[in-house]
Amino acid sequence: MAIQLVTTAAGLRAESARLLRQKGGTSQGLVPTMGALHAGHAQLARTAVAQNDVVVVSIFVNPLQFGEAVDLERYPRTLEADLALLEAEGVDLVFAPGVEEVYPGGEPMVRITAGPLAEKWEGASRPGHFDGALTVVAKLLHVGTPGAAARSQLPDYRAYFGQKDAQQLALVQRMVADLNFPVEIVPVPIVRSADGLALSSRNRFLSTEEHEAALVLSRALLLIEDRANAHEPLDLESARALVDSQPLVQLDYFEVVDPHTLEPLAENCKDTPFRGEGLALIAAKVGPVRLIDNVPLNS
Ligand code: AMP
Repeated sequence: MAIQLVTTAAGLRAESARLLRQKGGTSQGLVPTMGALHAGHAQLARTAVAQNDVVVVSIFVNPLQFGEAVDLERYPRTLEADLALLEAEGVDLVFAPGVEEVYPGGEPMVRITAGPLAEKWEGASRPGHFDGALTVVAKLLHVGTPGAAARSQLPDYRAYFGQKDAQQLALVQRMVADLNFPVEIVPVPIVRSADGLALSSRNRFLSTEEHEAALVLSRALLLIEDRANAHEPLDLESARALVDSQPLVQLDYFEVVDPHTLEPLAENCKDTPFRGEGLALIAAKVGPVRLIDNVPLNS
């Protein structure tokens, strides 16, 4: 079936309900994105299509989560190519609203407060980012809620988020649990280019030289992962030094944290062998682009 584009919440509700009835479906999946789609987004869409009868992908560049106006303005917008990619994945509906549709009358007065989980890491460098991101995710989860399926049965409702944005994923999981959103959050592993760089819509702003330099981030994470798997001390300092040796890369943070609280696991990182569960998080500026990456550690 050809992919359908809707631009209003009312249109999305009507079309998704119609599709669910037409297919006799009992489940709906939502994949929130900001567009400029790549193979990472395609993996989210593919996972959603495999698990649900009706799949909606939203494309909305959310002004509330951008700090600098220039970052918002230059964020890539590639709707035609996005639709082709999603159609090839078997997505049913694309919800691509304008700013007026999402925020009629301007910015919302009432917002989600992301709380203490948002204070560190990305939140420390991007004040207000997670309040803005969670506010739009809350709205999208509401407008993407499926209507009643056949025989008035409540359909299953799942939403898909990439592990690439680990802090965002942790916050969305907390929001859904803490505020009782009736949706299952499904995490999807990071998709990388063949050379190891985590795919991001912003990678297109890297020069060839910067792209090459940025590979040190995934190399440093791999080093930590290997040490964790070998039950060796993680020795974060030496991994940080590897990143610092690359002059085009300005390291912001590189830490091993508890995957649920995002608090540093300092005692695991020095001279004791690593045991248990962790998440290695890294963020750096490379040329004009801020990059993030991470690797789950399970030893
Ligand atoms: P964005 O369009 O950048 O807001 O991302 C939309 C969704 O795609 C988020 O849940 C991201 O975590 C996810 N995503 C972005 N890049 C990747 C990637 N390389 N691998 C897996 N998921 C990703």
